[in-house]
Order: sequence, then structure tokens, then C-alpha cells
Amino acid sequence: MPINELRYFLKLLEERGELVKVKRSVSPKFELSSVARKSEIEDGPALLFKNVEGYSTPVVTNLFSKIDRIALGIEVKKGQLLQKITKAIDNPIKPKIVDGGPVKDAVVLENINLLKMFPIPIHAEKDGGPFISAGVVIGKDPETGRRNLSYHRMQVKGPARLGIHNDPWRHLGEFYRKVEVKGKPLEIAICIGLDPAIELAAAARVLYDEFELAGAMKEMPVELVKCETVDIEVPTNTEIVIEGKIPPTVREPEGPFAEYTGYYGMDEFQPVVEVTAVTHREEPIYRTIVGASMEHVILGNVVSREPVLYKFVKHVVPEVKAVHIPPYSAGFHAIISMKKENEGMAKQAIFAALTSHINIKHVIVVDEDVDIFDPKDVFWAIATRVQGDKDVMIVPGAFGPKLDRTSEEGVTAKIGIDATASLDRKEFTRVKHWKIDKINLKDYI
Ligand code: MN
Repeated sequence: MPINELRYFLKLLEERGELVKVKRSVSPKFELSSVARKSEIEDGPALLFKNVEGYSTPVVTNLFSKIDRIALGIEVKKGQLLQKITKAIDNPIKPKIVDGGPVKDAVVLENINLLKMFPIPIHAEKDGGPFISAGVVIGKDPETGRRNLSYHRMQVKGPARLGIHNDPWRHLGEFYRKVEVKGKPLEIAICIGLDPAIELAAAARVLYDEFELAGAMKEMPVELVKCETVDIEVPTNTEIVIEGKIPPTVREPEGPFAEYTGYYGMDEFQPVVEVTAVTHREEPIYRTIVGASMEHVILGNVVSREPVLYKFVKHVVPEVKAVHIPPYSAGFHAIISMKKENEGMAKQAIFAALTSHINIKHVIVVDEDVDIFDPKDVFWAIATRVQGDKDVMIVPGAFGPKLDRTSEEGVTAKIGIDATASLDRKEFTRVKHWKIDKINLKDYI
């Protein structure tokens, strides 16, 4: 059976000890998020909070705090994840429209009060209020009808009113600009609680409908059903759907919200959502992503960008072995390993990596004997294979993310570090102790 809904995924995770049900009562204000973060820091399981104070709806989080759980979500071995996503990007499968589905178990058109209905957490102490953080926003290009899936932080501002962070460079931002100049609202649907393939596809940026990417990852078309009050289709198995419109010309301050950088993000001029309907499954499960968590970075900056990074680097340096955007570096670092055959190859890889996404700020290139997933190994390479005057390159005044506190309104310096050993006569054979991989300490101590 393919993983076609959140509930089934949770069941699989629980069977493997990757999800634990929390029975103890927790407050949706700070406590839920802090417990979730603690579980991440201690390399613990995803958590399903069954007893959130004041609510009967459970809350699930930390689903993607570990790459292992993402691999399980799209039914692939950990080492095959990057290839699977890369292949899916090139082989999209169109979604299928059907007549109904569990998401229509309840249809609420009047007296909507989001905070009364769902346990929307206040995640971090300086957050501006409750935020919907794992809501996948579905929108349509008003000119072509192409659907788009994207994450946006959404602040609850009233019973049926949300702030939405919608930068103009986002696809949804483009759609909004196109209708706004005509004085019209942009219709959207916010999907909370989806199967893993759709959540992953929503994090990616492709030039076609991301439901087609989700279909490719699941190897079956996503089934969609029409919304009640907007011209949008949503997955039939979504736990909760919030339908709404983004009215033209309205701009308000929104935030702060704990961002992936590890700092708070806020904006003075962002649009709002006027909610027009809510539909949900019977006994829905609310899904949240803790702001400034590992899951936040992994979903937004790692699995969504590594396939592009790999493609770009592989294109210019076929000798590339592996690429990684480590989640502990806010998505700003890229680490590349290669079998260097020419002294200039590492710098060539640095150029390619820096162009793969504006967020890539520091690139480190190592030889294939270095494990790019182990920070200790990478630091060792920087320590023993770098001469700063030859191996470090700095590109001033490039384009970067505004959320990087060190940038000047998105203008940032980029750094490349060639931590590969030089190909000259010097001996760079790394010490490897006798049969180290075979030794089992239990046999000795
Ligand atoms: Mn997109």
C-alpha cells in the first residue's frame, strides 16, 4: 500500500519506533514546541501530542527532523533519497480530479473560528502569536492555471483572518502580483496534514505543478477534489483545509516568527488571508513544524535544494561524489566531495554550487576520503588541507537571502573553501587504523 495519507505514515513511523504518542497534557503555548525541539536535540522520535490543553485535536510534529524518516516517507533507502527526488523532478505524474473524499467529512462555511477549532501553537517565546507553519498553500497562476504548492508562515490575526508571508519572488507571490494589478483577490487553499510526498514536493521549487512532483515520488497520481468556496483543488486525504482569499492592496505587519536561520523574522508589509471555508476529516490531526527547528531547515533548505545542487555541480564536475547542505548551518553551507583530477576542479565546483541557490553562501570542497555528513571529518579537512591564500576565494557583493542578518538587504559575500589535498608530490594519504571498520569493541571490553 503506498503512503497516501498522513495517518498511514504515522502508523508506519510508530511501528518503527520513529514516532511516539505523548499522553501527558501540554500547552500549545511554548510547551509543545519546546518538548518537540528537545526530542530533536536528543535525536528522538517524531511526536504526536494526544492531549493538547483546551483541544481534542492531536498535534503531530518532527516528522522530518531526520533524513531517515524522509526516506521512509517516500519509501526509499536513506542513501537513495537524493537520486529518487532527482529522478522524480524529471518524471512528473499529473494529478487526478475526483468527486469527493475524507477531507469533506466536515464542511464549515459559517462562524469560523480557527483558534477555537484547531490547536494552532505559539511556537517560540517572541513569536507574534499562533502561527500555521506546516500549511501547504495551493494557488493557481491566473494566466496559465498552473497550480503551485508552497509553505508560508501564517499568523492567526482573527477568527477567520491570517497574515501570510508571501515574498514577490515566490511563485505564489508572482500569482498574487498578477491578480492584484487587476484589483482582484488571489484564491488559495491551505492544506494541513498531508502525506509525506506532498509535503516534500511543496518544499521544492519546480516550474510545473508540484502535485506532479508528489505523484512522481509516490509513483501514482495525487487525487484531488474541488474546494467549496474557491477555484482550487486539494488532496482528498488532507486532514484540514482552510480556504480563503488574499485581498488586493492590503498590507500589514506580520511576525515575529522563529525562522530557519535561528533568529526571528518579521515584516512590515505583508498581505492577509480572509478565510471563506474550512473542511476537514473526522477527528482531524493537526500538523505543525516548530520554527527554527531541524525539521524547518531540512524541509525548507536541505531536501528541497540538494537535488538542484547535485545537478549543477555534476554538470560542470562529473567527478563529484556527493553533495550535502547540512541542516546545522541554516542551509547556508554546501559541502561537496569529489575525486579531484585537476587542480582547478574544486574551484569549478564552488562556482556551480554558489549558483544553485541564492541561500548557498559558503561552499567547502573535500576529497572523497572525507565523510561530508560528519562535521568532524569536514573540519579535519579544512584544518589539514587548506592554505588560506590559495584555497579560499571570496566573491563580494553577490545575491543572498535577506533573512541572513549579515547581508545588506540581500547583498552578501560568498566564500569558497577548497579543502582538497593538492595533487603535487606531497603525501596526503590519510591514516586509517588496521581493520578499524571490522573491530567490535564488545569483543574486547
Ligand atoms: Mn513552485
